[in-house]
Amino acid sequence: MPLLRDIPEQELSDLLDEARRLWETGQCCPTRCGVTRRWGAAPDREPPCGGSSTGIKVASFAVHNGEEPPVSGWNGAGNIFFSGCNMHCLFCQNWPISHDNNGRLHTAEEFAVEVKKLLAKKVHNLNLTTADHYLYPVFKALAGMRGEIAVPISYNCSGYFAEEALAVVLRFCDIFLYDVKYLDPALAARYSRAPGYVDAMTRGLEILRAARIPWGEDDLGILQRGLIIRHLVIPGAVENSLKALDLLAAYRDRGMIFKLSLMSQYFPAYRATEHPDISRRITRDEYDPIVARMEELDLDGWTQDLDAHGGA
Ligand code: SF4
Repeated sequence: MPLLRDIPEQELSDLLDEARRLWETGQCCPTRCGVTRRWGAAPDREPPCGGSSTGIKVASFAVHNGEEPPVSGWNGAGNIFFSGCNMHCLFCQNWPISHDNNGRLHTAEEFAVEVKKLLAKKVHNLNLTTADHYLYPVFKALAGMRGEIAVPISYNCSGYFAEEALAVVLRFCDIFLYDVKYLDPALAARYSRAPGYVDAMTRGLEILRAARIPWGEDDLGILQRGLIIRHLVIPGAVENSLKALDLLAAYRDRGMIFKLSLMSQYFPAYRATEHPDISRRITRDEYDPIVARMEELDLDGWTQDLDAHGGA
């Protein structure tokens, strides 16, 4: 059964209160920008992530077939791509949405209408993509229509969470798509503007491990509950990837239940071309040892075919 429908009224009310507290005080991600806002009113200043408080800004509501097989299935995931982002990665492939904040503001009612249209397309889940900066208004809108949501809610994020926000998300959502981008703080500082990324991401892993999210597919292999960790291999950073896999194997050995999605799809988007180290795709000499390490560590999951993504 989908978790949201099962949450007792009082617990849901407490969760929304906590989401609102974090969101209204700018404490929803480790940036902790401290922006003060209320739903429907302008904030005291613009938050660095681009989040709005006068509407939920969404770039697209789309059936998406490119997620991992048990997430996309055959009908597709019901992706909701939120505008803005708190990571500011300079190689972002979705930069018009994340950096330029393109999208349309939706009232809570308009948002619910679009969600219902997605559900009518028989998507296998609602896949909230980069929703951290809309934590409260989105959860409030979904809670208001929970009786109509018969699919799991998936939370697709960069792994850059405030711990209290992750606790709310963990209770509210069924599926977690959690990025492990950097193990090297120097890379995080060079390529993203997310202070303390490595510490925040590993604290998040610890919370996810303690939560022991079970892996559950339905009879047809569609994911209902579970954790997928994603790692994008970036050029010139083999050691970063090997360290990430070693860390994840250690978490697996300490009881964290997940599948790993190793991604080779990097291409130099946005401002990556200004940085020689990352102004190219990854090579086979970089990717093969990482895939080999994943096999050696017996990490369950998926790899992308390098040839399909134009690696050299
Ligand atoms: S997600 Fe945005 S509003 Fe929330 S703390 Fe981070 S930067 Fe501030």
